[in-house]
Amino acid sequence: MASKNINVDFALIKKLADKHTDAMISFLRDIVAIPSFSAGEKAVALRIKKEMLKVGFEKVFIDDYGSVIGRIGKGSPCLVYDGHIDTVGVADPKAWAFDPFKGKVENGFVWGRGASDNKAAPVVQIYGLKILKELLGKKFPGTVYVVGSVQEEACDGLALGHALQHSIKQKADAVVLGECTGCAIYRGHRGRMEILVSTSGVSSHASAPERGVNAVYKMAPIIKEIEELNNRLKSDPFLDKGTIAVTKIECDTDSINCVPYACRIYIDRRLTKGETKALAISQIKKLPSAKGAKVEVLKFDDPSYTGKTLVTEKYYPTWVLPERHKLVQSAAAAYRSLFNCDPKIDKWTFSTNGISSMGQLGIPTIGFGPSEERFAHTNQDKCAIEDLRIACAFYAALPLFVE
Ligand SMILES: [Zn+2]
Repeated sequence: MASKNINVDFALIKKLADKHTDAMISFLRDIVAIPSFSAGEKAVALRIKKEMLKVGFEKVFIDDYGSVIGRIGKGSPCLVYDGHIDTVGVADPKAWAFDPFKGKVENGFVWGRGASDNKAAPVVQIYGLKILKELLGKKFPGTVYVVGSVQEEACDGLALGHALQHSIKQKADAVVLGECTGCAIYRGHRGRMEILVSTSGVSSHASAPERGVNAVYKMAPIIKEIEELNNRLKSDPFLDKGTIAVTKIECDTDSINCVPYACRIYIDRRLTKGETKALAISQIKKLPSAKGAKVEVLKFDDPSYTGKTLVTEKYYPTWVLPERHKLVQSAAAAYRSLFNCDPKIDKWTFSTNGISSMGQLGIPTIGFGPSEERFAHTNQDKCAIEDLRIACAFYAALPLFVE
């Protein structure tokens, strides 16, 4: 694949990524040291905005939902790099052998909450584009936006989808997610849903349960049938099997000596290729014991730190880009030009913002991220410094290959 007839020395891109390693480490340490749980990303967004302006982004702004967005270049194609800037919490600081908000550097890694998931993404994306702009100046190919999206851990896809539809005025031709891939090219993952099933009953004194209708007893066979349904769900050679699991149960009762009048279970459903919202809901409704139960998709309506609320169903569609798709092949060509070997091409186990860019909006999407999925959401949260160099070079080279 040609690199748009622009003469670029790929060895020089790698050399520049090496040269900027110290700056990337220090930027990553800075943003790891700013806690940014979902709906609390304002300070980290401002810090990232400052870095974008410092390295020469041409336009930088924070949108009405709170995501930080920077642009380099103009015209087409329009590429969007995304990395989410919120993190999960730190429930038990004592479970950590180090301060999760210090950004310590040790054994070739930067350590801390969000170092892997996903604060290293904006770092490599911003520095990659800095390198390409320095090399090409006015010959910079097309437009590239970097989105530091908020609220991903709370509701994947919501902030990126909003940015793509409302904040970025240009139509995106392709999206690249910086979620951890261990510097492989990822091209999809299973979708997911959060479902609520409710049964209702009639309360009575527990000393005479036959006078009431126990909502928990109505739920019990449904739970058993959901467990069995999991074994029957379809599989896909690339994405693996769809799954269903009851993850929470609660009931309403006036006291311990009353028959409960309402019961609810919460369900995590993972959707493989070909499994849709309608299918997943009908499978539960068709369970013999679920007759008369209410089955619904949960809603997300938490406001972001700007106070803006975007209401959405907790349905996150499955997406897969075929390996032969030109975006996957362009990314593979960029990788080969830099590293003289074939990249690994795979999928995520977890869910990402790709559910909106590709799953809902149909924009071709791939992933390439520093660090590995297995460190995400753990007390071993870290990013290899070597991955910063590799991913920075990749993000610098990619716009030369995307048409
Ligand atoms: Zn993530």
